[in-house]
Amino acid sequence: MDWKNYFSKFMTIKCKKCSTPSIIYQPYSGLHLCEKHFFEDLERKAKLTLRQRYPIRKNDVIAVALSGGKDSSVALLLMHKIFGNRPDIKIIAVTIDEGIAGYRNESIERAKEMTARLGIEHIVRSFSDEYGKTMDAIASEKRLLENHLGDEKKELGACSYCGVLRKKILNKVARDIGATKLVIGHNLDDEAQTIMLNHFRGDVERMVRFSAASELNGFIVRAKPLRKIPEKEVALYAYLHDLPMELTSCPHSFGALRKEVRRMLNGFEVNHPGTKYSLVRGFDNMVPLLASGLAVSDLQNCEICGEPCNDSVCQACKMLEKNVLQS
Ligand code: SF4
Ligand SMILES: [Zn+2]
Ligand SMILES: [Zn+2]
Repeated sequence: MDWKNYFSKFMTIKCKKCSTPSIIYQPYSGLHLCEKHFFEDLERKAKLTLRQRYPIRKNDVIAVALSGGKDSSVALLLMHKIFGNRPDIKIIAVTIDEGIAGYRNESIERAKEMTARLGIEHIVRSFSDEYGKTMDAIASEKRLLENHLGDEKKELGACSYCGVLRKKILNKVARDIGATKLVIGHNLDDEAQTIMLNHFRGDVERMVRFSAASELNGFIVRAKPLRKIPEKEVALYAYLHDLPMELTSCPHSFGALRKEVRRMLNGFEVNHPGTKYSLVRGFDNMVPLLASGLAVSDLQNCEICGEPCNDSVCQACKMLEKNVLQS
């Protein structure tokens, strides 16, 4: 994104809240904002989301999932700004090295710079340590399997494997360090896309589980302070704070369906500003109704790894066991 070019479009228009030149226009609110008021607006939204959905309490240990990209870096910076001076609250960053050549190494370096800059403890765990292989190896084995077996196993993209396997390590590390919250940098665009994807899949139970913010045995509460903040604003906030920005993209990238949903929602947002907010707000209102009429399966412990899950075997073990992913 060429931010200088972006700013130049608004510099001649004054901030709605003061008389200085604006740097951003929010089509969904109709506001032009200067840098100071943009920061205030974004930080207020993040604080409100935390207060309403994931209240931080005395003696909380907050693990922040830090990939080294813009979203998680902004989430970490906000947690540091909001809670960094509280002696009763501890913040620890956790980075998962999936083992993706030419992509993850660089972002891990950025994550290290970021935590050193803020003076935050930083833990790095890898797929290799936990599963004995990298995401690159998993993706190429998966491709081989698909070529061999035909279409029936193609429904899961590399990201589905990566997401499940990463989530499992994150939860484990967070639990091991005594974390009471696990902060994830999902922004409004991520949330709207996931909600839409679950609608397309007709997966009601997953929708309810996706929104759960309560502590379940062995699962650490996942808090998403950026879930009401558009991706573009998170990127601008990161740029103005000189935080890491993704320069390279993951070679395994998103599944085709998510890309389509992303394009579709961006199109709606241009023609009907506020669509993504409405989607997330409507979903939040719908979840209690869905949850009351749905028997969400009880938590169990995975027979293979012992981690908490909704079935006798957890999703990660199923993925690792089911096919060539096992050594
Ligand atoms: S784009 Fe997909 S495969 Fe790449 S790091 Fe993200 S989830 Fe993993
Ligand atoms: Zn202003
Ligand atoms: Zn398991």
